[in-house]
Amino acid sequence: MIETAQLTGRTDHHVTEIFPGHYLHREVVAPYIQLVERAATAGIDLRMASGYRSFERQLAIWNAKVRGEQSVSDEYGRALDLEGLNDLDKVFAILRWSALPGASRHHWGTDIDIWDAAAVPAGYRLQLSPGEYSPEGVFHRLSAWLDTSLAGDQSGFFRPYLVDRGGVAPEPWHLSYRPLADKYQAQIQIDVLRDLLGRADILLKDILLSDLDEIIQRFVQPGY
Ligand SMILES: [Zn+2]
Repeated sequence: MIETAQLTGRTDHHVTEIFPGHYLHREVVAPYIQLVERAATAGIDLRMASGYRSFERQLAIWNAKVRGEQSVSDEYGRALDLEGLNDLDKVFAILRWSALPGASRHHWGTDIDIWDAAAVPAGYRLQLSPGEYSPEGVFHRLSAWLDTSLAGDQSGFFRPYLVDRGGVAPEPWHLSYRPLADKYQAQIQIDVLRDLLGRADILLKDILLSDLDEIIQRFVQPGY
């Protein structure tokens, strides 16, 4: 049984600092380092853009997007204006690219956004955009390497958001350590989430609570 604080990003005692400012679940560190070493043999300098993220951090991202302080993208990665959308459509637009606080896979420490430092010049401004990982993008070699290296492999990593199922947009940079992540995923409880969001200082709270079942169905439990 995993404690709800770990599931929802309200504790960091299950994670450890792997690089300055970057944290992973203790049990994911060794498999991740193995993956980095394998990538290095293919000339790929695998780096973490993001690992563990707390509820508070995800909440800050959420509220900044609702306020328009941080941009929300449309299907093509272009900035989307939330003005004029109804509240539920605002929620859906944000959830395409940003997890619901309390329900991010990054809370678990099992999930990592990755890029290839060998593919870009020093000082490159990472966007984590679909284009970068496409056949024309700077990280196409990384994508191709992951396609072959993760297929039926023993590393334990997979990409939960590789295919668009109409919920979360494809995120070819998002890796998950399945042996552990599946345990977290199986223990998500909607009542815990409803209670947490109800007490949080989160924008669009009313619509999140009234439509939480559909939101969870579309964006949190996609049945990969
Ligand atoms: Zn991610």
